Amino acid sequence: MADTITGNRDTADLAIDPIPAFTDNYIWALHRGGHAVVVDPGDAAPVEAFLAARDLVLDAIVLTHHHGDHVGGVAALAATRPGLPVYGPGIEAIPGVNHALHDGERFTLSVAPDTPVRVLAVPGHTRGHLAYRIEDAIFCGDTLFAAGCGRLFEGTAAQMHASLQRLSALPAATRVFCAHEYTLANLRFALAVEPGNAVIRERIADAEARRARGQPTLPSTIGLERASNPFLRVREGAVIASAVEHARETQRGENFAPSAPSNDEAVFALLREWKNRFR
Ligand code: ZN
Ligand code: FE
Repeated sequence: MADTITGNRDTADLAIDPIPAFTDNYIWALHRGGHAVVVDPGDAAPVEAFLAARDLVLDAIVLTHHHGDHVGGVAALAATRPGLPVYGPGIEAIPGVNHALHDGERFTLSVAPDTPVRVLAVPGHTRGHLAYRIEDAIFCGDTLFAAGCGRLFEGTAAQMHASLQRLSALPAATRVFCAHEYTLANLRFALAVEPGNAVIRERIADAEARRARGQPTLPSTIGLERASNPFLRVREGAVIASAVEHARETQRGENFAPSAPSNDEAVFALLREWKNRFR
């Protein structure tokens, strides 16, 4: 079932649907009145099938970052649609991008011509990763996940922490459309970090029920992420204590005597390291 943008008349009937791709990617389709825009089409085939089934014309592509599971379908989709606008990060060399974007810029899409899409630079997963905000929706690729965050492939922990704080500062009702179905695995890690957090336990039950019905766990909301995503909760005493304790256990015997992490980025870095090895 489609989500819709909550906003003015321009976007009141703009639908947002997930197009599943590969094993756990979601390509988000924004559509209205026979026209569509897709975010991060890693594969063209499921997008073409979605468009054909609903008789939609593809008007534009929006890309968050250069990884193949997000851009792999661009060439095939654009090949049959001369002049198709392809929006993407200005500082990443992505073949096919013809509208290079940077932090703070705005643009509009055919499916919501009176509503600006705001561009946010959120580096960390990749150097030039962008997020796109339209009304009460944020498309954040592999930066913020439901109950988790992306790996640090090109950026530093400090960069990713700053990017996540930027997203966390959006209004609580902002809906989070991320690019992967990683929610249950992320929640299991979140519970290991904060066993006493009741919101995480409720969320696990909800996510398990949705997955059992074959439904996505997305979108999330910024408010829910603030309450249950350990990577946004680096100032919580329980999170700090847990991160330090884990670091102490794993580095025992290496003359490691952790004191309290010196700042929020340090807590974030400990959590990210822990999650990298968590099974
Ligand atoms: Zn990625
Ligand atoms: Fe990805």
